[in-house]
Amino acid sequence: MRSIAVIGGGPAGGAAALGLARGGARVDLYVPSRPGEKPCGGAVPEAALPPLEGFEGGKLRRVSEPPTLIENDRGSRIEIRLAGIEIFRRRDFDAALVSAAERAGAVVQRQKVEHIEPNERGVRVRSREIDRSYDWVVGADGARGLTRRTVGLQSAGESIGLGASLSGLEVENLVLSFLGLADSYAWVFPRPGGASVGVAYTSGTVSDDSVRIALASFLDRTLPPGWRQLPGPRYRYPIPVFGPATVPGLRKALLSRILLVGDAASLADPLTREGIRYGLLSGSWAADCLLAEAPGTYPDVIAARLGLEMEYALKARDLFFAGSVGRWMVPVSRLHRGVRIVLQDLLACRQSYSGLTMRLARAAFNPG
Ligand SMILES: Cc1cc2nc3c(=O)[nH]c(=O)nc-3n(C[C@H](O)[C@H](O)[C@H](O)COP(=O)(O)OP(=O)(O)OC[C@H]3O[C@@H](n4cnc5c(N)ncnc54)[C@H](O)[C@@H]3O)c2cc1C
Repeated sequence: MRSIAVIGGGPAGGAAALGLARGGARVDLYVPSRPGEKPCGGAVPEAALPPLEGFEGGKLRRVSEPPTLIENDRGSRIEIRLAGIEIFRRRDFDAALVSAAERAGAVVQRQKVEHIEPNERGVRVRSREIDRSYDWVVGADGARGLTRRTVGLQSAGESIGLGASLSGLEVENLVLSFLGLADSYAWVFPRPGGASVGVAYTSGTVSDDSVRIALASFLDRTLPPGWRQLPGPRYRYPIPVFGPATVPGLRKALLSRILLVGDAASLADPLTREGIRYGLLSGSWAADCLLAEAPGTYPDVIAARLGLEMEYALKARDLFFAGSVGRWMVPVSRLHRGVRIVLQDLLACRQSYSGLTMRLARAAFNPG
């Protein structure tokens, strides 16, 4: 079996290293010596997660199916049930995946990769203490990672997450607010030991300032007094969503013997901006391709399994945020049980984008 370096120990890198090690590959998993908390809501639709043999995610602390409020910019509010939504601290989730990969036989190198150099024999990877060549590299180092830069990929049409992790803040409800500013939405997620708050938007469609003002006003009416000024560290972090440049980017990276996965590959959902699931999926698929000695098929696997659904997600995004669906979804859902169930299923990832319009139309014409 060939030697492989997986760079990054988030959902994508953890899943890739776990799959590779279980399949008997020689794999080094590079993770920072002191991993921090990834800027992330940490919400995962459990039903939609790929089964990862050896990963005992069920044992992790989480907030399960919190009561959920959805509001729009006209003041309409509804309560819904997000069946199967689990919210984790990312530090716990990522560490458990890395441990699972280690138990399966991956060698965890606790140091950041500083240099990657593809050459005719493979890929040379250098960190502070290691200088080693591998047959293949799995690039799982996220939106701002070295692997993307090494193969000369620009970031394109990215979403941004702006927010904070608030340790010690106890909130009961998950709140989602559609702000009426292009395709932005704000959230409060209860999590073990605190809460995550923030706003997601597409850069260039609204100004940072208007989004910050809308977030402040949302937090002002949603959080208890004393928490409204976003104490503690804040972040502004890219969420690279699936788009027309995604698959060509994977093909380009392949020429340097690098399989990009997760955020490094730009795979997050363009509507919800959810990326943990796609990190886990792409990490597992990259491992399968390498184990089958067919790494060249990896871009085709991504295109075949995600391409069409993501195309529908892009169309649904316009409908959802700017079109009639967005305008009427919340008030209609309040009155109409069928439409409300479609909305719940969509947000809990139980409804595919490809069948969305049809199901909404069917629900709307049946009595609620
Ligand atoms: C504000 C915000 C909120 C979000 N909320 C959600 C949510 O609720 N649900 C959801 O599904 N998605 C959410 N996302 C998206 C989600 O966080 C990402 O899509 C997901 O983390 C991608 O996983 P990944 O493994 O590809 O990358 P990452 O999680 O970014 O992991 C990359 C890892 O690589 C490591 N690394 C980087 N450089 C190096 C190096 N040189 N050497 C070694 N290691 C390195 C990093 O330390 C990190 O651990 C959110 C994103 C943001 C910004």
